[in-house]
Amino acid sequence: MSKLANIYVFSDKPSRIRDLIGVATPLGDKVTAIVIGAQPEAQAAAAAGAATIIAIPSQEGVIVEDYAPSIAEAIRGAGAAGLVLLAAGKRGKCLAAKLGAALRAAVVNEASAISLDGGLAVSHMVYGGLANATETISSPLAVVTVASGALEAAPCQAVAGAEIRQGVFVPPAHPIRLVKREAKAGQAVDLAASRRVVCVGRGFAKKEDLSLAGDLASAIGGDVGCSRPIAEGEGWMEREVYVGVSGVMLNADIYIALGVSGQIQHMVGANGSKTIIAVNKDKNAPIFNFADYGIVGDLYKVVPALVAALK
Ligand SMILES: Cc1cc2nc3c(=O)[nH]c(=O)nc-3n(C[C@H](O)[C@H](O)[C@H](O)COP(=O)(O)OP(=O)(O)OC[C@H]3O[C@@H](n4cnc5c(N)ncnc54)[C@H](O)[C@@H]3O)c2cc1C
Repeated sequence: MSKLANIYVFSDKPSRIRDLIGVATPLGDKVTAIVIGAQPEAQAAAAAGAATIIAIPSQEGVIVEDYAPSIAEAIRGAGAAGLVLLAAGKRGKCLAAKLGAALRAAVVNEASAISLDGGLAVSHMVYGGLANATETISSPLAVVTVASGALEAAPCQAVAGAEIRQGVFVPPAHPIRLVKREAKAGQAVDLAASRRVVCVGRGFAKKEDLSLAGDLASAIGGDVGCSRPIAEGEGWMEREVYVGVSGVMLNADIYIALGVSGQIQHMVGANGSKTIIAVNKDKNAPIFNFADYGIVGDLYKVVPALVAALK
C-alpha cells in the first residue's frame, strides 16, 4: 500500500507534537496538526514540521477531552479518512475513544508498530506484555495512540509558509465542569525522553532510602524511575514515572535497576534501553536474564560503592 493520503496529529502536550509529526511523515502524503489555540500554537506546530494546521480556538474552563467534538469536526471537514495519531497519555486515550465513537473509526491504543504493507495494520501489546497483536484496520479512518519513544520518528524540518486554517469550537453535549486546577507537587520528569534512568524497585525498604537512587542518578546525570508497586502500592513516587507495560516505555541509553525483580510487565518498558544494568541480591532474579551487566548484592552496599567510584 502506498502512503495514506491524510494523517492528523493532536497532542495536548506541545512537547509531543514534534515526534507525532515525525511518526506521521513517512506514513502519509499530508500531515495536518490540530492545535488548540491561535497563531503561537499554530506556528509551533509549523516549526515542528506540520504543513497544514487547524487551530481550534481555546475556551476558558474547557478540558482537553471536551474538545473532542471540535477535533472530530475538524477531521470531518478535512475528509475523515486516513489516520489520527494522538499522544498515549490518559487524556489522549480518552480523546481517542471519543473520536472513535464520533467518527466511527477503529481505535488502537499504545501502538508498537504501524504498517502499510497490504493495508493499514497496527500492532500493540496484549496480555500484560506477554504477546503482541496486530489489528488490520477496515474502517476508512483509524485513531491510534502512540507512547513517547515507542515508534521511530523521522526528523522533520520547520515548514515555512505552512497553511493555517481556522477551526471551530463545537460545545460538547455533556460538558465536564472544571472546578479548579492545582499544580502537582514535585518536578515532572519525562522519563520516556531520559537518556539515563535509575529505577527503584521493591528491594528498597523505605521511602527515605530512595535518596540512594537519587545519588546514583546525579552521579550519572540521569533521572529516577520506579517499578509499579513503588508508585501504585507504596505511593513513594509519582505514577508518571513507573516503567512498564502500563507505565512509561523507556528509550534510554542506560537503565540501572536497583532491587527490581524483572517481571515481564516491567521489562517490556525497560527493554528499549540500550544497556541494562541490574543490582539484585537474588542471583536467580529474572532481571539477570535481561541485563547486560549484573551485580548480585545488597543494593544498600552496592549503590554507595558505585556512587563513590563514580565521583
Ligand atoms: C496487568 C499487569 C500490568 C503490570 N504492569 C506493570 C508495569 O507497567 N510496571 C511494573 O513495574 N510492574 C507492572 N506489573 C507488576 C509486575 O508484575 C511486578 O509485580 C512488579 O514489576 C514487581 O516490582 P518490583 O520488581 O519492584 O518488586 P518485586 O517483584 O517484589 O522485586 C523486588 C526485588 O528486589 C530484590 N531485593 C530485595 N531486597 C534487596 C536488596 N537489599 N538489594 C538488592 N535487591 C533486593 C529482590 O530479590 C526482588 O528481586 C503489572 C502486573 C500486571 C498483572
